[in-house]
Amino acid sequence: MAKDKQGGIPRVDLPADARLDTLAVREGLPPSPWGENSEALYLTSSFVHPDAATAARRFANEEEAFVYSRFSNPTVMMMERRLAALEGTEACIATSSGMSAIMLLVMGLLKAGDHVVCSRSVFGSTIKLLQGEFGKFGVQTTFVSQTDLAEWKNALQPNTKLLFAETPTNPLTEVCDVAALAEIAHGHGALLAVDNCFASPALQQPAKMGADFIIHSGTKYLDGQGRVIAGAICGPAKFIDEVFTPVMRSVGMSLSPFNAWVVLKGMETLSVRMKAQTASAARLAEWLEAHPGVERVYYPGLKSHPQHELAMRQQGGQGGAVVSFIVKGGARAAEDGGRSAAFHVIDQTRICSITANLGDTKTTITHPASTSHGRLTEPQRQAAGITQGLIRVAVGLEDIEDIKADLARGLNSL
Ligand SMILES: *Cc1c(COP(=O)(O)O)cnc(C)c1O
Repeated sequence: MAKDKQGGIPRVDLPADARLDTLAVREGLPPSPWGENSEALYLTSSFVHPDAATAARRFANEEEAFVYSRFSNPTVMMMERRLAALEGTEACIATSSGMSAIMLLVMGLLKAGDHVVCSRSVFGSTIKLLQGEFGKFGVQTTFVSQTDLAEWKNALQPNTKLLFAETPTNPLTEVCDVAALAEIAHGHGALLAVDNCFASPALQQPAKMGADFIIHSGTKYLDGQGRVIAGAICGPAKFIDEVFTPVMRSVGMSLSPFNAWVVLKGMETLSVRMKAQTASAARLAEWLEAHPGVERVYYPGLKSHPQHELAMRQQGGQGGAVVSFIVKGGARAAEDGGRSAAFHVIDQTRICSITANLGDTKTTITHPASTSHGRLTEPQRQAAGITQGLIRVAVGLEDIEDIKADLARGLNSL
């Protein structure tokens, strides 16, 4: 969006102290002259200017106005303003996917010769992007333990510009200390980005703990119903306007207005969905932990979780809606590491959707080692703790007793 030089684009008239649940429904742009109550979907590639001189001013960033939907569109802006309000950051820039948000982050902040420190437990495609794609262009990444702060510190180099974390992680729900990582980054003159996809701003606001940038896959809980691919970076207005928007203008990893609208409306129910799905996930995690067919459960809300206390502090006392567990492989596990036992449990479900997506109202079940983390080498998978017996369940809004019965079918017949 062009900078606010002349009056600019108006804001919604909201009290300055409006709370999160109010912002989730109300933040955006004022309605058009027609007074629509539900936000308008502006499907237009370009915007018309009253005269040539005005067009020139707008293209030169001297007057704030919508110009071209590769980098400015009212529906997309409504989504950006709403997400920034939820994350408690000054600004936000929407992208075509969560992955392109990370691409925009790195393209905007780094150049060849720069160095990144990243948790080795982050989303599989994030590891591929940093190591593979950006490695090709001379940006080096060191991968470290999610939870060992000393490893993060020891990995710092004079050219380290960015620390990248994700918490809780997919699929093992490992939690890192955001405030401590912010301190390490800032003490070194580097910046901290946190992928907040799993907790969402309904549970956790990393900017309040010192993170500079928040990465989102809007595909997950923000949309909340598994309909569109979307992403975003939230952060200080100076970076969004002066660093990321120019890259967006040249590169065009833009979010379509339609997908922005879907995410915008999804955010209105984010808080109630997260509360309900988290409550169900907590019940499922407790049940799984007591089940004889289960070797281990990964869920931040359980006392057995290694970072339980930190998670409760960072996530408003909530564990989130994703539960992972290792199936007891029995005799078969010796041959395939538990893979066939995990496949058995997955294949016995009749309600859960077998899909790698998450953050949907429909409960999804996935085998990370052969799907989301399938592109990693076996040593990379081992390092990330993604074993063959591991199953991830992203709990939706169905009756949790039905989901338990769905999993019991396979677990009781291993
Ligand atoms: C899904 C996901 C992404 C990537 O988002 P897309 O919208 O699929 O591109 C990034 N980080 C995490 C933690 C995710 O779960």
